[in-house]
Amino acid sequence: MLARTDELIAELCGRFPGRVSTTPPDRSAYARDLWPRGLIGAAAGDAAPHPPDAVVWPTSTDEVAEIVRAAQRTGTPIVPYGAGSGVCGGAMPIRGGLLVDLKRMRRLVELDARAGAATFEAGVLGEHLEHELNRRGFTLGHFPSSIMCSTYGGWLAARSAGQLSTKYGKIEDMVRRLTFVDGRGQIHELESGGSPDLVQLVVGSEGTLGIITQATCTVRPLPDVRLYRGWAFPRVAAGLEAIRRLLQRNLRPAAVRLYDELDSFLHRSEKEKPHEGHESEHDAAQSEGSALGEWLAMLTPSGRGLLADWKKRAINAALSRPDLVNRFAGAVLPYAQNGCLLVVGFEGERTTTEAETLAAAVELERAGGRDLGPGPGERWLAHRYAVSFRMSKVFDAGAFVDTMEVATTWDRLLELYAAVRQAVSPIAFVMAHFSHAYADGCSIYFTFAAKGATRVDAERKYDAIWRAGLAAANRVGATISHHHGVGLSKAPFMPEEHGEAMSIYRALKDVLDPSSIMNPGKMGL
Ligand SMILES: Cc1cc2nc3c(=O)[nH]c(=O)nc-3n(C[C@H](O)[C@H](O)[C@H](O)COP(=O)(O)OP(=O)(O)OC[C@H]3O[C@@H](n4cnc5c(N)ncnc54)[C@H](O)[C@@H]3O)c2cc1C
Repeated sequence: MLARTDELIAELCGRFPGRVSTTPPDRSAYARDLWPRGLIGAAAGDAAPHPPDAVVWPTSTDEVAEIVRAAQRTGTPIVPYGAGSGVCGGAMPIRGGLLVDLKRMRRLVELDARAGAATFEAGVLGEHLEHELNRRGFTLGHFPSSIMCSTYGGWLAARSAGQLSTKYGKIEDMVRRLTFVDGRGQIHELESGGSPDLVQLVVGSEGTLGIITQATCTVRPLPDVRLYRGWAFPRVAAGLEAIRRLLQRNLRPAAVRLYDELDSFLHRSEKEKPHEGHESEHDAAQSEGSALGEWLAMLTPSGRGLLADWKKRAINAALSRPDLVNRFAGAVLPYAQNGCLLVVGFEGERTTTEAETLAAAVELERAGGRDLGPGPGERWLAHRYAVSFRMSKVFDAGAFVDTMEVATTWDRLLELYAAVRQAVSPIAFVMAHFSHAYADGCSIYFTFAAKGATRVDAERKYDAIWRAGLAAANRVGATISHHHGVGLSKAPFMPEEHGEAMSIYRALKDVLDPSSIMNPGKMGL
């Protein structure tokens, strides 16, 4: 630790007694977020290479500003921290310094029912925020799978998308006002909708320009009714065409999720079976990418006997020869089973929602879809936050799993799907679903898994997968980050995506953070 950082920490300990920690457990707990590359090392028993020098818990915007000004005087790096659920290494303090955890700033400041707007402090956990609004008859409409372990500020910092973004928009579409402390410790109150819209420069900057301490977003009345159904389409292309037509004819489902053949195959047996009135343990595991998670979890030695042994061997074989398995899946699955599962859900005021559901059914049937009834839709809705809690064992077994969320316009979507699949297939077992669909385009959420012979081999494969996948996305002209942010993992691909425009971002950084203390090393700066 630099002597000046030492002085700064001593000063902050005096100023905020009991709210600054330099203890090894705290420093180690805050050294990582949920970037799977970091988890490969953690599973191998490595201590995190870059813990922060100290963790500090401010309780107000003024305190945040004071901390930033003090850190600027000593040139100490600052990493803003929400809940550490980021999956791109964005909250990792790679140059040490201060980690500023905002979770003690979690108040509902104001709910203005007539304006349809709510103001919360940035450190409130997503689920708590939604609960506070629900108690008063409102919803934010923002439901990321990580809602229980991510914060409002983290959503804004990473341009997060909830599962119902097709209806309610992404977080950047909801935000109206921000309180923001820049890298000089100056406090700004920024309003959306003016020219230029300065709020949109801060949203998505992942702590590289400053710290969001409070924000006002649009809220809506709770929906009267939710109507979710499943549909089967013979192929990905037919399902995508149906979604595009729905959206371009101005129908606004809350959720649309089309699973490709392999993803549908892994989900199918559970999702298509009729509602049984009770939930098995396996039902509870269906959600975002977790079909693969649960399937991979069979790698771990929980089962005994021939069947468990056979499954383990099959998974190991799939992970060691992903090229063959991907090719087999691509060639056989479209013919061998029932095609692709599409979940479509509408919600809102009853009469409109029922009318939209009917209109969508006509369109989907016309596009070749087969109605599977409400079962698959309702099951998805009920289990939409379930993640596989057995994944850490998968990492312990030397395997890893991760997701890549790229997006583009409708005309290039199938090309993007094919390009990323082809690029990643030789190295990892890969599947995808299409969600977060809009009138102009859609996001593709790839889930991939692989296994390394050693920890170094696993990291080498992990890096190769991301290089190949994102280079393919760049070639097609897609965005490399629809909603997980950039952090460390996608930083090398920023210049390729943004070209000369990176100089605008750098200029902004120079003005707002002249000492370069804010989240250094992130986002390709
Ligand atoms: C199981 C799982 C499911 C997920 N599902 C989704 C999903 O459906 N949709 C989605 O969008 N994402 C999802 N994510 C990713 C993650 O939850 C989001 O990126 C989320 O926005 C991060 O919030 P956080 O509070 O945990 O931020 P952190 O991880 O703490 O930080 C993320 C970045 O923002 C910066 N930051 C945090 N707070 C502030 C602040 N107040 N001011 C300035 N900068 C700040 C950090 O420095 C870091 O760079 C998922 C992650 C997991 C593990």
